[in-house]
Amino acid sequence: MTSIPDITLNNGQTIPQFGFGVFQIEPQDTVAAVSTALEAGYRHIDTAEMYGNEAEVGEAIAKSGLERGEVFVTSKLSNDSHEPDEARQAFEGTLKALGTEYVDLFLIHWPLPARYGGDIAATWRTLEEFYREGRARSIGVSNFQPHHLRRLHGETQIIPAVNQIEVHPYLTQDDVRAFCAEHQITVEAWSPLGKGGVLGAPVIRSISERTGKTPAQVVLRWHIQRGDIVFPKSVTPDRIRENIGIFGFELSATDIADITVLNRNERTGPDPDKFDGR
Ligand code: NAD
Repeated sequence: MTSIPDITLNNGQTIPQFGFGVFQIEPQDTVAAVSTALEAGYRHIDTAEMYGNEAEVGEAIAKSGLERGEVFVTSKLSNDSHEPDEARQAFEGTLKALGTEYVDLFLIHWPLPARYGGDIAATWRTLEEFYREGRARSIGVSNFQPHHLRRLHGETQIIPAVNQIEVHPYLTQDDVRAFCAEHQITVEAWSPLGKGGVLGAPVIRSISERTGKTPAQVVLRWHIQRGDIVFPKSVTPDRIRENIGIFGFELSATDIADITVLNRNERTGPDPDKFDGR
């Protein structure tokens, strides 16, 4: 296997461009799934307090025999903890559950326009404290639209290192990605397979047949060549191994374009401008 590329974030920290997502993995299945991923060569795990499996992620990393510094760990602030004191408590809880003194990346999970008076700048300033303390090596946001990012720009000091947003062939997010590129914010593409829903598209099937790669590998490779960070989720060991097998081939510029035009602005998850976090 050719190795996973690193991406350098706007603060100089590096992050593996490919990782493992654990949303909707039951706590009792998490140690096995993360252990399989680490054995297969994954070195980046994306979790969140709201996924309810941080402790099991920490347990799998501890059991792996890898040094803490060899695995990049991301977690996210719960929607119930945006108020600064609550955010501090939530962050302590995340570190404790993961069994670590720091996370590599900590994100505001959702902007929550309808709650807390929409004061995302106050929440962000609290994450800036975690960053200055060295307990979050990088900080970022998730599900932020350009207007949310502009707001931070006016009222806070640190530019988010990443914006984790839903991206897949049916939701290419060209405008948000262009805004992020212009402001040196790296895009992380969540639900990179559209939760599996994009894999039957005829274009993807035909590229899969021609290249001898699976539909999931074709889609993940499309993300990688567009420059986004991805962390597909699976609990099936064969799929976990299949999904990381994307570093020994390249899609042509035509393949990339043919997949990109599948966009139909179709979300699998909530609209960040409407979601109130509940
Ligand atoms: P995904 O696009 O990774 O799809 C996962 C599903 O695709 C699996 O449940 C399985 O059904 C299918 N699948 C996986 N590998 C496959 C393969 N090789 N062949 C066929 N089918 C396959 O969706 P996701 O889990 O929603 O997203 C990935 C990660 O993104 C999450 O685990 C989480 O870490 C992150 N995420 C973040 C947010 C956010 O708000 N920040 C929201 C959702 C997900």
